[in-house]
Amino acid sequence: MELLPIIHADADAFFAACHMAEDSSLRSRPIAVAGDPGTRHGIILAANYPARSYGIRTTMRVGEARHRCPGLITIAPQRELYTAYSRRLREIFDQWTPLVEPLSIDEAWLDLTPQMDRWHGDSVKAGQALQASILSHLGITVSLGISINKMLAKQVSDWNKPGGLTILPKDDISQRLWPRPIIELFGCGPSTARRLASWNIETIGDLAKTPISALTSLGIQGERLKTRAQGTDYSPVVPPRITDRQSISVERTLPYNLAPDALTDQSWQPLITELLIRRTSTGLDGRTLVAKYRTSDFTTHTRQITTSQSIHTAAQILTLLHQILARTPITQPVRLIGLGLTDLRLPTTEQMTFWQNV
Ligand SMILES: [Mg+2]
Repeated sequence: MELLPIIHADADAFFAACHMAEDSSLRSRPIAVAGDPGTRHGIILAANYPARSYGIRTTMRVGEARHRCPGLITIAPQRELYTAYSRRLREIFDQWTPLVEPLSIDEAWLDLTPQMDRWHGDSVKAGQALQASILSHLGITVSLGISINKMLAKQVSDWNKPGGLTILPKDDISQRLWPRPIIELFGCGPSTARRLASWNIETIGDLAKTPISALTSLGIQGERLKTRAQGTDYSPVVPPRITDRQSISVERTLPYNLAPDALTDQSWQPLITELLIRRTSTGLDGRTLVAKYRTSDFTTHTRQITTSQSIHTAAQILTLLHQILARTPITQPVRLIGLGLTDLRLPTTEQMTFWQNV
């Protein structure tokens, strides 16, 4: 089975959905969030699906919207509400994978690669579980695109809104993506679409087949759009605030104080195992090992060591631990021990980082 590890998740009619989740009496009625609902000239910012069935669209004036749907309920925007829902959405995404890249307040890419074993390689099952979790915890629906890379996942996530789940395997690109109009290509604005149309490039497939030499006047954007159209843009999913979780650690209070010479490799082994499991679940790489111990007088000591290679085996951890303890031996009975990895980075950005020794 082909692995489709990337999900693009996009909440349906997000602003309106937040209000419906707060007040279920709004669910079946046409509602719109409007910039200034008191005046006819205010602009519709979002409309739920019942309102859309009257032809109400984003950026329409309130006056026209009311004309089309006299029963329309207009609501002033509540930014704090949307931010709160956005944060909760993000918290749920984070439970699916550490590799989450938000694209807007209600959209994100998820790279399930580090979690594929958990889902037995089935990202559709993972996606369905994600939709169910968001619906039960937040009361809103999201539509998903699932594919081999970010751009393709984004490309298809709105094909079955609301609450849809669209899968685009590599072999389907030419049949299902290429006939679509070029304006639907992510990153292709109306003016670029007009320029491409003037060169007889009308569909995504037309662009995919156009030699790059014919696109030089578009510069770097031409290359970027062409790789997207071909489905070969593999830019990584990059969490924006990796520093928020740049370390992991585990610790254990010992059943009784241990004299330094009674502290053996065996004593550290459960912590090593746990640390390696935690490390795997983050999908991140670390090269700095931290050893921590609290002595019987309740003083906590931390020591760390940095190595040139990513730490991912028990043997590596034991070797580094021995080096730390040889450098600064423990001299008093110990009541707690701990291990950690710091300076965790995405494997792909590894080469760009350097390690600090403290
Ligand atoms: Mg949305």
